[in-house]
Amino acid sequence: MLKLAFGIFLLMPLKREKDLERKIAKERIEFLLNKAQEIKKENYELARRYVELAVKIAKKYRIRLGKLKVFFCKKCLYPYSEGKFRVRIHKSRVIVTCLNCGYERRVPVKPKKS
Ligand SMILES: [Zn+2]
Repeated sequence: MLKLAFGIFLLMPLKREKDLERKIAKERIEFLLNKAQEIKKENYELARRYVELAVKIAKKYRIRLGKLKVFFCKKCLYPYSEGKFRVRIHKSRVIVTCLNCGYERRVPVKPKKS
């Protein structure tokens, strides 16, 4: 039974490779975005480069950034940093305004299910 499972395993190298590539890509994205968060206070330009790279990788591998994308501006790719963005709440939406380029991101606030 184990041998059979191993045989099937060997027959699917292509799919496995793709999965592995995506997994590595995801890790790189997380690493880059974490780095961007770390460095944004010292070197804002470099932080943006990290975000740019992360977004490029995400696009190439069609990886959804999900929660990670709330850390930077979708338009100019600068990570949100102190004094670089404004948060307002309007009609149960959080409006995050990027002070670099003026881009507004609207995030609906979901009512908590009880
Ligand atoms: Zn922006």
